[in-house]
Amino acid sequence: MQVFHDLLKFVLRPLSSSARDGHVIKCGDEVVRKCYFRVAGWLADHIENLMIHVIYTTRCAICESPQDWLGDLQKYPLRDAQQYREWVDKSDTESLHMSGVKCITNALWTRRDVIPRELVRSDIVHMILLGNLQHLLDWIKGFLDSHDRLSAFDSIWSLMAPYPSCYVL
Ligand SMILES: [Zn+2]
Repeated sequence: MQVFHDLLKFVLRPLSSSARDGHVIKCGDEVVRKCYFRVAGWLADHIENLMIHVIYTTRCAICESPQDWLGDLQKYPLRDAQQYREWVDKSDTESLHMSGVKCITNALWTRRDVIPRELVRSDIVHMILLGNLQHLLDWIKGFLDSHDRLSAFDSIWSLMAPYPSCYVL
């Protein structure tokens, strides 16, 4: 997990100067503006959030709710990246463990333009896609089967190229 955060720090490095100094950019409406690029959100499911926020599986990426209270909508202290960074620097594994945080230097904790807990955005499109695609395929298969067209559908489907816009001559 430390390798992931070392790479993340490297990948996000160009954004540091942009977030601080900005870039002059000609926008779509032809107006030149000074723009400040920053990491404002990160679409991730819970498992991906574990990696991004270096937290234990049963913990929340936004607050310090105890693992048995995950999903309970009571208010718990919000995650404090500055505090975690200090604990990692001091190797205070006990405090980190109590907060559900692994003893890893998180690339996001050092960025001035990021409050890690505010990056959390649920990956709704991913979840909807998975759920709807399965539901849609089940519905289509049932419909085609009831009209005796399932084998024709399968035959046509199997003829499709894996990458329809790429033609190999
Ligand atoms: Zn929470």
